[in-house]
Parts: sequence; structure tokens; C-alpha cells
Amino acid sequence: MKANTKRCSRCKKQLSIECFNFSVKSKDGRGNYCKECNVEYQKIAQKRSYDKNPALHLLKKSCQAALRRSQLDYIRDGYANVTCDFKNVKEFFTDLWNDDRFRSEWIEQSNIYHMSRDLRDRPTLDRIDSKCRYEKGNIRMLPHWENVTEGAQKECQVYVIKDTRIDHRIDYSAMGEAKNAIAAIYGIPKNALNCVDRGTMVEADNGVRLLLETKDGQQKVTDESKHLMVMNRYEIVYDIDTGVEVARKHQQVQSEVSGIEVSTLVL
Ligand SMILES: [Zn+2]
Repeated sequence: MKANTKRCSRCKKQLSIECFNFSVKSKDGRGNYCKECNVEYQKIAQKRSYDKNPALHLLKKSCQAALRRSQLDYIRDGYANVTCDFKNVKEFFTDLWNDDRFRSEWIEQSNIYHMSRDLRDRPTLDRIDSKCRYEKGNIRMLPHWENVTEGAQKECQVYVIKDTRIDHRIDYSAMGEAKNAIAAIYGIPKNALNCVDRGTMVEADNGVRLLLETKDGQQKVTDESKHLMVMNRYEIVYDIDTGVEVARKHQQVQSEVSGIEVSTLVL
């Protein structure tokens, strides 16, 4: 056996090692199926799972995404509050699925989506109190279109920070409006603002930084003009064919940033 080839356990072909995805589970660091077979296999598995129980399949997918997002949210904002109470996908969806009311609403919306195949009808997980985490009692089902609209309609404010001082504050009646304004005034491409959430600092030109906050976001008075920057760096390796994540390196950097006079935020 040469180390630079491997036999695919699905199509039985002896192929170059590059034809296999990375895999942390296997001894030689590569999966058992060749990339081509893996794509096929994933497609079949996804379809089988959906056909077996569309509502449950969609819920699993949503839980997966929420879990991933809640980790990413934390990183992005330096806020620990958008975390998830559930340790893994199974615990997450099982808990929701066992809730009679949630399950029946989820199934109903899944049926609508199944008929229309319109992404706007897809059931999604919504945090009832968006300041809190994904946890028992704080999750409900909302159709995708409603979830998006709700977030976009939240009142918010943008603090314009020049050097280390709050220069002024602008109020907006909706998140979407604020993002449009930021994009227009500061020439930031709108799609770069897609993932901007409350608590996010946006770097604009000329040393100007923008802080986006929702109206109910509580600014605390403090004498220490500091805030903590938490930066999580991920190096993620994706398989180019399947889009499946094959490896991830993580590094967290924390630094205290001084100079923002938080007390001046309180108007
Ligand atoms: Zn194969």
C-alpha cells in the first residue's frame, strides 16, 4: 500500500489521497469515501432525513445553525449573552421537539413550507427576548419572513465615535434603516453590514467607529473608560466540493481598549 493512494470504500476505486476529504476521525486523517462519493452520500442522507420527517429534519438543521451562530455571535460582539444553553444539537432539538406546543407549531409551518417550497415560509427559531440566550422558554417558532421583519424593525441607535470620544448619537426606528444610513454616509458596502448586530463596532474611515445598539440596550455608567475586546480567530478548512467543514483551529485574543467615555453615552 502506497501512502499517497487510498481505496474508496464506496466506489472501491484506488485513488490519490487528494481525492479524499480530511477527517479527524480516521487514522490516516482522510475520510473513507472519496470526495465524489461523499457528495453523493451527503445528498442522499439529507434527502432521506428530510423525507422521513420533514419537520424534524428542518428543526435539526435550525438547531445546528443556531448553535453555530451563537458561538459566532459571541465572537463577533464580544458579548457573552447570545450563547446557547444547549450543549449539542441533539439535546437542543430533542428538548424543543418534546414541547407539545412548539412541536405542533413547527410541524404546521413545516407543512406550509413543504407545500410552497418558498424559503420565506421556512420555520425558524426565534429568541423571544433577543437579549437572552437560546434556552428553555426563550425560543419560539417564527416563519422566516416574520423573523427577519421583526429583527429589522427593532429601534436602534448608532453612536459615532471619533478617536476615543462619542461624537454624537443617531436614532433609527429600524435596524435596516440604520444599516442603510451607515452604508450611505460612510460608504461601507451594504453586504458588509449583513452580520452587524447590536453591540458591534463598525470601523469607518478617518478613525471613525460606529457602535450599533438597540434601543433597549442598557448603557452603564462607569468611571473606567474601558471595554473588553474579545477576538476569536478561527481558521476553518472547508472541503471545496461539499462545503463540509473538515478542520478548525481556534485562538482567542482579549484586550482592554481604553478611552471610550461610556458615561457620555447616557443621555
Ligand atoms: Zn468513491
